[in-house]
Amino acid sequence: MTTRRVRKKCQALVSTLALPRPFSVESLIHDLSLQRGRAIRLRSLPTGFGAHACGLVISTDTADEIYVEEKTTRFHRDHIALHEIGHILMHHDNGGREDPGALSALLPNLSPEAISRILARTSYTTEQEQEAELVASLIRAKAGTLAPLPSTGVRGKLEVSLGIRE
Ligand SMILES: [Zn+2]
Repeated sequence: MTTRRVRKKCQALVSTLALPRPFSVESLIHDLSLQRGRAIRLRSLPTGFGAHACGLVISTDTADEIYVEEKTTRFHRDHIALHEIGHILMHHDNGGREDPGALSALLPNLSPEAISRILARTSYTTEQEQEAELVASLIRAKAGTLAPLPSTGVRGKLEVSLGIRE
C-alpha cells in the first residue's frame, strides 16, 4: 500500500525534474549527470543476475553506476534504469556495507561471484522500493512514454489515484 506521504514525496521530486525532449533514458542520465555534477553511467549486467533484483546501483567516489540486465526488452531495461534512478534521486541508502575502494577495483571486471555478493548485500526497505517504482512510473508519465494501453491491476489503480490516468 503506497501511502499519501510516499506519493507526495515522489510527485514533488519528479515535478522538479526537467525532462529532455525528445525523452530517452540515456539523455535523462546525461542531463542528471550534468545537473548533479556527478556521473551516472548505465551498464549491462550479465544475464542471469537480474532474477532476484530490480537492478543494481554501485556508487563510487566519482559516479553512480546503474547495472541493468542486458538480455531484456528495451522497455523493461528503461524501466529498471528509471527505477534505479529513483533510488539515486531519493538518496536511498541500500544498507550497503561495501568498501568503495574494493568495489571500484572490481568494476572494470565484475565477476558473477562479485555481483552475487553485492546483490546479496543490497537491501532496500519496502517503502524505498515503492518510492523507486513510483518515481520510475511518474517519470514515464511525465515524459509521455507510458504504454498506450491502460494499465490494469495495482499499477492501474495507482496511476488513477495519482492522476496519471482517468
Ligand atoms: Zn529497487
